[in-house]
Amino acid sequence: MIIKQKIALTFDDGPHPFYTPKILDLLQKHKSKALFFCAGKNAKKYPKLIKRILAEGHQIGNHTWSHYPLFQNNENVLQREIVDFHDFIFDNYQYTMKFFRPPWGVFPRNIKKKMETQYNYTTLLWDVNSFDYCFPYRKNLYLFNWKKNKKTITILFHDGVILSPSTTRFHTLKMVENLLLKQSEFDFVFPTLKK
Ligand SMILES: [Zn+2]
Repeated sequence: MIIKQKIALTFDDGPHPFYTPKILDLLQKHKSKALFFCAGKNAKKYPKLIKRILAEGHQIGNHTWSHYPLFQNNENVLQREIVDFHDFIFDNYQYTMKFFRPPWGVFPRNIKKKMETQYNYTTLLWDVNSFDYCFPYRKNLYLFNWKKNKKTITILFHDGVILSPSTTRFHTLKMVENLLLKQSEFDFVFPTLKK
């Protein structure tokens, strides 16, 4: 029996009115699931996309309300950026977000601990960065830091364009499609929650 490498697809900074539906179409076509690290301000703006993401069996993670850099452990900021977004999703969709990814992947150690103990979140960064925000854009992933013996490889993509509003995401769609076509090699799964 061939044991396939497990891959967790994650999409940051959305939802986006044009690209997120295209990603959802691709996932549907290839019967795969993904975790969307949304920004609260986009979630509020595009409720139909949040509904669609959840209705199609994907997951949503907390990527702060406004893609705010969490450089300090400041209660007011955490309330506004993490808790308010958490409550917004729960109140509107009865969905409890369980994964947290800090913008830019950067945050102090004490916030990580607080996210896990006080807010009950699993912090998830990534194993492979698609660099889909870097020009020149690629159509395939660079696999130079592929951790072959890791149980589940988490890949970072972006459906949103918060960091570069004028960019396109057509190259991201291509990269995702090329990866989804390799279902004989990979199983597409959700990341694992920390107990
Ligand atoms: Zn981000």
